[in-house]
Amino acid sequence: MDLDSIGFPDELLSKLCAKTPTFWINAKLGATLSYPDTLQIEDIEVAQNRLLRSRDLLMRLFPELEQTQGVIESELVELAQLQQHLDPTYHTQHDQKWFLKSDHALPIAGSVKARGGFHEVIAVAEKIAIENHLIAENENLVTLASDQAKALFSQYSVAVGSTGNLGLSIGIMAAALGFSTIVHMSVDAKEWKKERLRRRGVKVIEHSGDYVEAVEAGRKEALSNPKCHFVDDEQSILLFLGYAAAAEHLAAQLKAQHRIVDKEHPLFVYIPCGVGGAPGGITYGLKAIFGEHVHCFFAEPVASPCMLVQLASGQDTSVSVYDIGLDNRTEADGLAVGQASYLVSPIMQSLLSGVFTVSDNTLYKNLHMIKATENIELEPSAAASLHGSVLLTQTDEGQRYLTDHNIATSQATHIIWSTGGSLVPSEEMQKFQKYGEEVYLKD
Ligand SMILES: *Cc1c(COP(=O)(O)O)cnc(C)c1O
Repeated sequence: MDLDSIGFPDELLSKLCAKTPTFWINAKLGATLSYPDTLQIEDIEVAQNRLLRSRDLLMRLFPELEQTQGVIESELVELAQLQQHLDPTYHTQHDQKWFLKSDHALPIAGSVKARGGFHEVIAVAEKIAIENHLIAENENLVTLASDQAKALFSQYSVAVGSTGNLGLSIGIMAAALGFSTIVHMSVDAKEWKKERLRRRGVKVIEHSGDYVEAVEAGRKEALSNPKCHFVDDEQSILLFLGYAAAAEHLAAQLKAQHRIVDKEHPLFVYIPCGVGGAPGGITYGLKAIFGEHVHCFFAEPVASPCMLVQLASGQDTSVSVYDIGLDNRTEADGLAVGQASYLVSPIMQSLLSGVFTVSDNTLYKNLHMIKATENIELEPSAAASLHGSVLLTQTDEGQRYLTDHNIATSQATHIIWSTGGSLVPSEEMQKFQKYGEEVYLKD
């Protein structure tokens, strides 16, 4: 792609190229733009309903889920200590609160990918079971755990390409249902994730290239086999809807915490972004409930700001981080994506408030700060959005956003979405924490 044909202001382009942390505000927020006609707002409810019908099935497959009656959800935790540490208005604005949406601790998969990944695999299994007259539409899905269903699914395969966590989530669920499962891993993927999958009987294929290459390999494999379902992270609606289904539960959690969301009580949500499926789906779901009173911001590594680049280019054709000379090299393995989702980026054009980029050192510093203040352990990718509200309230760009949209923050709720970490082996976690502390003390 020719740089001159990308519609970037020079100043933004040079900041991105220099890997300077950047806070980009989306001028097209609220514009009337059309969605892909394959996506309907009612589909969020269909996904929520499917997950409800899966509760008995999930308890059968994973007995540890009996505790939550088969619900895969995470806590909303107040971050008073972290806020006190980072928020300069903490002592003057008592009605402003920070929370963590703890998806790093989602059961079974230990990352936000449990939402989209489990939903897609279950939807695929449901469809095959209906086609083979094992169940009827809208039935309780517990039958999918039967021996008969397992025998049926063993004739099919599920494939996916991933930087790690999506492979983990798809692999665990597909293997549990009895599918023959193949996960194509990019060069960024951590060894322990591959090992964990192999132990469950998943075939792991390692690639020397990046995320796009792993996805491409999976897609190719699936095309040659009509009984293979390919989970396409770059354009899957089933994944997207699984993430969107999170919004209703969060709305209930906010209510339980007596947090109102309206003009005087705005809701700000900060989410790490890789290809865009998880944060995009969550944003789509939240916008459907809270409309203009929820403001969603994505966090991306300085070397991999694929959603920022795509949206800021104003192009319909795809623009990648490689097109502006970035290398897509980051410690945030879950966010090491050079090209934003073809499904999600057009939808984000009118829904997303902005994107900020984060250096790898800041990821580690954030990782240390939330451990030191709240005793919560995250993986580097999941720590990307921790300082979102500081950027919003303390930078010129953030102030301009608040002024332009006539928003007062004194009674705001800020949600930091933590996206992964609870499955990281303790040895690896200790290394993360040690490095995080070093970076923190140096700064
Ligand atoms: C996948 C992932 C994300 C981002 O999700 P995308 O759908 O790729 O945008 C963020 N954090 C972690 C830990 C992840 O695994």
